[in-house]
Amino acid sequence: MKATILLVEDETAIREMLRYTLTREGFEVIEAGDAREGERLIASVAPDLLLLDWMLPGLSGVELARRLRRSERTRRLPIIMLTARGDEENRIQGLEEGADDYVTKPFSPRELVARIRALLRRSGGDADTEGPLETEGLALDPASHRVTANGVDISLGPTEYRLLHFFMAHPERVFSRNQLLDQVWGDNVYIEERTIDVHIRRLRKALEKGGHDRLIQTVRGAGYRFSTQV
Ligand code: CA
Repeated sequence: MKATILLVEDETAIREMLRYTLTREGFEVIEAGDAREGERLIASVAPDLLLLDWMLPGLSGVELARRLRRSERTRRLPIIMLTARGDEENRIQGLEEGADDYVTKPFSPRELVARIRALLRRSGGDADTEGPLETEGLALDPASHRVTANGVDISLGPTEYRLLHFFMAHPERVFSRNQLLDQVWGDNVYIEERTIDVHIRRLRKALEKGGHDRLIQTVRGAGYRFSTQV
């Protein structure tokens, strides 16, 4: 089945280029010129992934991302943010507000397509045959893609879900940021190590309520570990 990508971008030239590239790569592409129109399309079409420009007239891309993460229906929609070059602060803020990845303009179409594929993969587009995992009341079921803490549902973004899945499947082992990048994000994708820290922070925050954030441990100078021991 073709994955549907919603492209929210006000610059016509970039939109045309992306439509051409993504269609040729086998994606279904729908477009919006601003965030409001994008929001309407998300409600009516339910795309598989959102390509979201940061700078939009009216409601900004980052504001739209924030709104989508607040709503139960769209919390898990994978988002790739398009940002201006050299705007480090924007990139980090974009990730904090709920984007799963970003590409910096001007970007190579090949890199963007690789990132789209990687994100679709880790957002659960592919079948998962592994069994359910449980640690001290924290449960993850790959079949239903559900995470619960002491029986209470926890909503995770696609990247946090995949990160937690990896950790729970490999407990009591330290992984460097580089190893996590390879295992969770996959190769062929260039991501700064700082990106991992943002997702770890988000994962911990989501697990805070049930007290399971303590299981995601920072190992100084080495990386991260999923452990029941202090
Ligand atoms: Ca723009």
